[in-house]
Amino acid sequence: HAKRMGRGNYQFFTPEMNAAASARLALEKALRRALDQREFELHYQPKVDVKSGQVLGMEALLRWRHPERGLVPPAEFIPLAEEIGLIGPIGAWVLETACRQNRDWQQQGLPKLRVAVNLSAVQFRQQNLPEFVAGVLKDVGLDASCLELEVTESVVMHNAKEAAQILEKLHAQGIHISIDDFGTGYSSLSYLKQFRLDTLKIDRSFVRDISSDADDAAIVRSVIALAHSLRLGVIAEGVETSEQLAFLESLDCDEYQGYLRSKPLSVPDFEAFLRDAIGAEAAV
Ligand code: C2E
Ligand code: MG
Ligand code: MG
Ligand code: MG
Repeated sequence: HAKRMGRGNYQFFTPEMNAAASARLALEKALRRALDQREFELHYQPKVDVKSGQVLGMEALLRWRHPERGLVPPAEFIPLAEEIGLIGPIGAWVLETACRQNRDWQQQGLPKLRVAVNLSAVQFRQQNLPEFVAGVLKDVGLDASCLELEVTESVVMHNAKEAAQILEKLHAQGIHISIDDFGTGYSSLSYLKQFRLDTLKIDRSFVRDISSDADDAAIVRSVIALAHSLRLGVIAEGVETSEQLAFLESLDCDEYQGYLRSKPLSVPDFEAFLRDAIGAEAAV
């Protein structure tokens, strides 16, 4: 295409490329503004005990309420935020907001639950993460045991030695650590014993066809056995049907998360959900 325009007249950007570049630039500008304009919000999805159905905690999931585009899911802006160095301030906002919200719920007399926050690779590598998290917990006034951090396998596998030290410092404070999307990253299992971990989160992709696909069932069964023999808890993500839940119960999975019980909910909706769940638990 560029060649046809003749020597000395190279066109490096096609109109399509120009459009994509300016769309990206617009997104970048909007994202930089979003923190100041308070356009981010956290939604919360319950983590549930498989056997009793009791709510044990919740995962904070980031949303961007864009003035024109509406609610934007994290997959559409977190990669860009990482690229342009905005994940630091956004991640700090997420951590503080989730901890403050959890403290507020406890002060309102709701049961003491653990809130889980996702950490990106960039955040995990930031200087003084353990000290930063400790500072947030202290400022907010939340027990370390009421915070859980979710990191993926690739995050801890990249420079495993340094990661082990970071996890050790977080663990020493009483913070829970989960490996998110377990089974989709590095398949080396040796890291499991060198890291201070509490829970493996089985990726949704293995859960989806668990009751019909023998291979997925075998993988999930193995992960649960592995977790338990290492004295780790295990939670399944993306549980949408009662068949999946029954299957997980038969495999002795500890906890689950998924649309079957609840989608991620806005703050008022999660509060209503919690009060409802407590009422139901009290009635049993
Ligand atoms: P994740 O941590 O593995 O979160 C689980 C994702 O699965 C969430 O998508 C959740 O809404 C979705 N999900 C939960 N239950 C079901 C279900 O039953 N069926 C289906 N189909 N999906 C279900 P979401 O909220 O779009 O988040 C996507 C990813 O973005 C997260 O994956 C996490 O890696 C990342 N993320 C979310 N919030 C944050 C954040 O505050 N910081 C960072 N660094 N990453 C975040
Ligand atoms: Mg997660
Ligand atoms: Mg996950
Ligand atoms: Mg996932």
